Amino acid sequence: MSDYTCKCGAVNEVELQPKGTATGLYCLKCGKWIKWVTKEEANRIYFRFNTKPVSELPNELIINGVVYIKK
Ligand SMILES: [Zn+2]
Repeated sequence: MSDYTCKCGAVNEVELQPKGTATGLYCLKCGKWIKWVTKEEANRIYFRFNTKPVSELPNELIINGVVYIKK
């Protein structure tokens, strides 16, 4: 999986923020917007980095055959 790098230099220090129907990826360090993510990518980011939960996340997610249970 690719890394999420912010212009401030933070790597993989991200949080998800729902904005209406879209979900934005933001830097935890400086709060800068990094990119818009799809719901699927938001789920992957959530389970990978244990970021703040996005609404409508499933309780269980299967990625590449691995089952992730929401904590
Ligand atoms: Zn930043």
